Amino acid sequence: MKATGGCYCGALRYSIDGAAEAMLQCHCRECQYITGGNPNVAAVFALEDFRYISGEPSTFARSDLDTPVVRHFCSNCGTGIGSRSPSRPNSMIVKIGTFDDQSFFKPQVAIFTCDKQPYHHIAEGLPAFDKRVVKS
Ligand SMILES: [Zn+2]
Ligand SMILES: [Zn+2]
Repeated sequence: MKATGGCYCGALRYSIDGAAEAMLQCHCRECQYITGGNPNVAAVFALEDFRYISGEPSTFARSDLDTPVVRHFCSNCGTGIGSRSPSRPNSMIVKIGTFDDQSFFKPQVAIFTCDKQPYHHIAEGLPAFDKRVVKS
């Protein structure tokens, strides 16, 4: 797929040329801070298929963790664009709300339901995992 997106103020813009490797909703406590409370919805792309075409993201990573997620965001408007995870070193995890056209998105899995809040919704039939998806 080809897709474009960016932050709320427009300073950061990106383009993607490649298929989503995964589409998910994450219920973890950390995502609740970033989203405002609800699960984070995101799609995973190969790092080489994602690039910023306007602006440079600011980044944040917790210094108290050995292998923290690196979060990309706009320093002007604060929109989180996505993150790089040490568990997926060759991927860019992109927040669905930043896409110009979100119609492609259909979550395949719910993860970190260990932190799920009572007001979170998981669609009927959606596979749900306590932590990450366990690969067999
Ligand atoms: Zn912005
Ligand atoms: Zn999360």
